[in-house]
Amino acid sequence: MSAYDRNNVFAKILRGELPCKKVYEDEFALAFHDINPLAPVHVLVIPKGEYVSQADFGATAPPELATGFWRAVSKVARDLGLDTEGYRIVANHGPNGGQLVFHFHVHIFGGRQMSHAMRSMPKADSQG
Ligand code: 5GP
Repeated sequence: MSAYDRNNVFAKILRGELPCKKVYEDEFALAFHDINPLAPVHVLVIPKGEYVSQADFGATAPPELATGFWRAVSKVARDLGLDTEGYRIVANHGPNGGQLVFHFHVHIFGGRQMSHAMRSMPKADSQG
């Protein structure tokens, strides 16, 4: 895993150097709308700390931050009114996971029926 790059776009948002449409903030996490939404609700939640991805965060974040971060994810989804109808959370890790921004983040998707995308994923031996 490569080292954390302090110039990544989410680091700049955290430092207030780039704008975002903020949904929620506390001492552990910041949540804001994705710039290119893929669902009626598409919010990103990022931890306040320098973590490249879920692998990094899960292995090295202090317990208080890890708990605070996941509580924030739950609260954001609840406050967005998604609990009853349901939602999807996604965290992409590394190139095969399709990660584009290397500051750990969780996507919250809601507001419509999600496809069963995993059923249409390429087979293990496929090149596609
Ligand atoms: P990843 O593939 O790394 O899990 O997803 C990164 C997400 O960040 C993408 O959904 C992309 O639309 C979003 N994103 C990239 N740059 C910005 C930005 O400057 N502002 C916001 N709000 N979202 C961004």
